[in-house]
Amino acid sequence: MFKRLCIVGVGLIGGSLARALRAAGAKGEIVGCGRDPDHLRLARDLGVIDCYETDLATAVAGADVVVLSTPLGAMAGLFTSLCDHLEADCVITDVGSSKGSVVNEARAALTAGQLARFVPGHPIAGTEKSGVEASFAELFHQRRVILTPLDENLPEAVARIRLLWEAAGSEVTEMSVAHHDTVLAATSHLPHMLAYTLVDTLARMHDKDEIFGYAAGGFRDFTRIASSDPVMWRDVCIANREAILGMIGRFQADLTLLAEAIEAGDSSVISDVFNRAKAARDRYAGRLDASADVIE
Ligand code: NAP
Repeated sequence: MFKRLCIVGVGLIGGSLARALRAAGAKGEIVGCGRDPDHLRLARDLGVIDCYETDLATAVAGADVVVLSTPLGAMAGLFTSLCDHLEADCVITDVGSSKGSVVNEARAALTAGQLARFVPGHPIAGTEKSGVEASFAELFHQRRVILTPLDENLPEAVARIRLLWEAAGSEVTEMSVAHHDTVLAATSHLPHMLAYTLVDTLARMHDKDEIFGYAAGGFRDFTRIASSDPVMWRDVCIANREAILGMIGRFQADLTLLAEAIEAGDSSVISDVFNRAKAARDRYAGRLDASADVIE
């Protein structure tokens, strides 16, 4: 699968990938790279990685596969720093939740030969927790991983990254960069915006203690993802700005229609919205239940 795999960003996703590959019997060396040696030492002590480097050039020396699993805001700088140090045949991928920005940044920094070996990816699995302590080998089992291969990509590079994720237990699908960002804005990014905003609105009310005190299971389910890492989600907002704004606009318009129906006491409009939503939710419930413990 690899001789030396370098994971830049050994947190929830990078750590879980390392664990999954090890559990699948991968024999090669796994080196972690990040900013904080304490985090990396913990990853090594937990057995997630074999060794670590805080210097990117040293970390990728000799690596035949590099996985970027940092927040999106760090990717541009990593591509710039990487390009002088990658081995000629090294295959690179990332796990970022938005693909357009990452692809633009890669195109701006990498050489043509490196770009041919950069295969953008996104595992549709995660939790609201962060850091290597939260990582686990089964995170990607039977979860989808979307690859958004570039026209420039070598088929063998795409095949290599596909194999990596399949070994981690994932079902790999492919789609275009633009389609990925539109779909994920609807299914993942908008729900995160709603959860964060709802909790923030309530948390700023003067009787918030009473409000949260009476919150029940439905509130807990709906808002679980508001515990996700604010840095990661800030970066997703910036990276996938257009598609997210499109979805927020759509949602705002529908919410306004509902508010108008409530104000007018229009029970038929209210019922229509709720009946349509219930039918759709019930239709997709099987699929949703299967991924109840993941957030993306
Ligand atoms: P995480 O648990 O916070 O891990 C991020 C890791 O990146 C940390 O180990 C951090 O270590 C390192 N890091 C941060 N900035 C860095 C930099 N400038 N240079 C090098 N290392 C850096 O985050 P995560 O949840 O695994 O998310 C990582 C990526 O996966 C994000 O791009 C996110 O969009 C994507 N993703 C997340 C989920 C999810 O549900 N969480 C799902 C799918 C995809 P140090 O602080 O020690 O540097």
